[in-house]
Amino acid sequence: MNTTFTPLVSKTVALPVVERVETMLVDLPTIRPHKLSVATMNGQTLMLVKIHCSDGVVGIGEGTTIGGLAYGGESPESMKLAIDTYFKPLMLGQDATAVRTLMTRIGKMVKENRFAKCAVETALLDAQGKRLGLPVSELLGGRLRSRLAVAWTLASGDTAKDIAEAEKMLDLRRHKIFKLKIGAKPLRDDIAHVAAIKRALGNHAAVRVDVNMAWSETDAAYGMAALADAGCELVEQPVASTAALTRLVRRFPTALMADESLHGPESAFELAKVSGADVFAVKIEQSGGLFNAQRVAAIADAAGIGLYGGTMLEGAFGTIASAHVFSTFNQLQWGTELFGPLLLTEEILTTPLDYSNFELTVPNGPGLGIELDEERIAFFVRDGLHKTISVVG
Ligand SMILES: [Mg+2]
Repeated sequence: MNTTFTPLVSKTVALPVVERVETMLVDLPTIRPHKLSVATMNGQTLMLVKIHCSDGVVGIGEGTTIGGLAYGGESPESMKLAIDTYFKPLMLGQDATAVRTLMTRIGKMVKENRFAKCAVETALLDAQGKRLGLPVSELLGGRLRSRLAVAWTLASGDTAKDIAEAEKMLDLRRHKIFKLKIGAKPLRDDIAHVAAIKRALGNHAAVRVDVNMAWSETDAAYGMAALADAGCELVEQPVASTAALTRLVRRFPTALMADESLHGPESAFELAKVSGADVFAVKIEQSGGLFNAQRVAAIADAAGIGLYGGTMLEGAFGTIASAHVFSTFNQLQWGTELFGPLLLTEEILTTPLDYSNFELTVPNGPGLGIELDEERIAFFVRDGLHKTISVVG
């Protein structure tokens, strides 16, 4: 008996393979200092990865962090190094159309490095979408919505400036959900800051806070009660530990959202199992990629936990990769915070994203549906033209 496996596809049909993997760091200024309990950001570094395939298709992905290593274990520099040194040899010559097969191959040899994996997966899906003429959302099972509500973060550190900024955003019809970054100041000062902003905005806008784990459990018990009284509808990650989150949840008339506690599907399952949150902030980078973000969302859905589309303050590529994923979620009760590109002073796309009427449009062109402005990138790439001019100037 002949047991030789006969492939359905003739060996003479050449599938596109990964030919070249290019990474770069792009340093962009922010429109104002962005103050979090963990760091103050005056700029953002994008790690861009371009995957060049043998059929001429190029896919682009992005990785970012918040404040270098202030938020987690990866930095833009570490992502670049991991991809150049460890991912690239696993990718070269491999079938570029089998995205999940290639990501599984990488996953076997590269532990952790969720942000770098997300960037590479984004680039592979962008390339495959361009190749097939389909948006990334359709490669992920199909979108349920093409417009996403976008919250804005008020983080100037100054109450009057934050109120003025919120009123401007309402006038522009860009945002009507505001997230306040608190936790760096004494508790009572933070509460007064939130209450003043909610009083000024009234019912025209929703006010939420993100503590970025800065509070103790006793701070959080006091803080959440006071924030509920101030009209704050949601508190994001007030404390670090899952046990403390679990003890705080549903004790106050304000929703509790987990963010930093979520590191992909396994942590989502653990948190859902102990009913540790009312809402999950799903982030593609924290989840370890686009497919994993969908798995996190599925766990939340099954557990009756609400969903919110989070950001690592990504630039356009990470933001739109996130938008494609969030467009496929069954529920997106709390909207998104995909405002990252609006925090940067520089446009890096040939056609800017559509932020209008309090929402972001999910592009419907092939792949991510956006195009990099190569000249702008050549200027802002680290050690590129920008630096040369600065040194000369
Ligand atoms: Mg957060």
